[in-house]
Amino acid sequence: MPCLSCNDLRVSFRIRKKSAYAVRGVSFSVDDRATLGIVGESGCGKSVTAAAIMRLVPAPPGKIESGAILFEEKDLLTIPEKEMRGVRGRRISMVFQDPMTSLNPVFTCGDQTAEPLILHKGMDKRAAAELSMELFSEVGIAEPKRVFESYPHNLSGGMRQRVMIAMALACSPKLLIADEPTTALDVTVQARLLELLKKLQDAKDMSMILITHNLGIVAGMARHVIVMYAGELVESAPTRTLFEAPRHPYTECLLKTIPSIDKRGERLTVIPGTVPTPFEIPDGCLFHPRCPKAKDVCRKERPALHCVDERGITDNDVNADNDKHHVRCHLYV
Ligand code: SF4
Repeated sequence: MPCLSCNDLRVSFRIRKKSAYAVRGVSFSVDDRATLGIVGESGCGKSVTAAAIMRLVPAPPGKIESGAILFEEKDLLTIPEKEMRGVRGRRISMVFQDPMTSLNPVFTCGDQTAEPLILHKGMDKRAAAELSMELFSEVGIAEPKRVFESYPHNLSGGMRQRVMIAMALACSPKLLIADEPTTALDVTVQARLLELLKKLQDAKDMSMILITHNLGIVAGMARHVIVMYAGELVESAPTRTLFEAPRHPYTECLLKTIPSIDKRGERLTVIPGTVPTPFEIPDGCLFHPRCPKAKDVCRKERPALHCVDERGITDNDVNADNDKHHVRCHLYV
């Protein structure tokens, strides 16, 4: 039984009287106590997908057009807003990329961590403060009392992100969504925070959705990976399969952009061009203007999602089964 299933999610945005899809029929599931990595460049629809799970797509201009997000036997897209408030922060929490914009600058870190405990768990102020400091210790903050009394601007970026993680864990959520949790930090702090997230996930039996533009980050963290491009799911597979036998040319390009010690002295690979905005989607395969393997058919026909086996042979089974390898590309039809 998966912790969360997202089925055929479609999210649109309306700007200057024009509507366009930012997420186009995306389906995936997150296994219990496992991590799903969602990978793609900026503008691929990863964060909009996360916002849809939390029902935080700003409307207008955004609109969740269709789909279902099943979590604890409820469809998060149809439950009343009051019920959703009990899910947000309590059963599903989020850690964002930039703690400086997510933390409130006029409240101390302690007040902000204690708030969900008072709100969702009915704790009194003193018990909430004690538990907040325990959480700070748990996330590796050496001086929990000092941080409890500090304002966000008094802390380093890494320390602020630890506070965000403590806040997200305050109500023992079943699912943690980490949206580019380490992008704003330097590499050594990144590694320590990822290790911390993994340790906390195991200790607390949580599931996790790890959103990143960096495939290298999901390698050591995720059991399964989905790759998104221009709002579509273009490939999904168990992490090992994706790294050993990527099928979609976009995934191959992303893998080539990962710096490695074996490539010392070589120039880093870049993917030419940019992700199209939802308002300038090309005909045919959405990746064709940037694809090194594009054929004539790619410019005309939008490829469907297919299941491929280890020899690259397809069948039409597109059930959101995490252990299967799915790819959206004409090369495999
Ligand atoms: Fe490239 Fe064609 Fe496959 Fe699209 S369908 S990824 S353009 S080969």
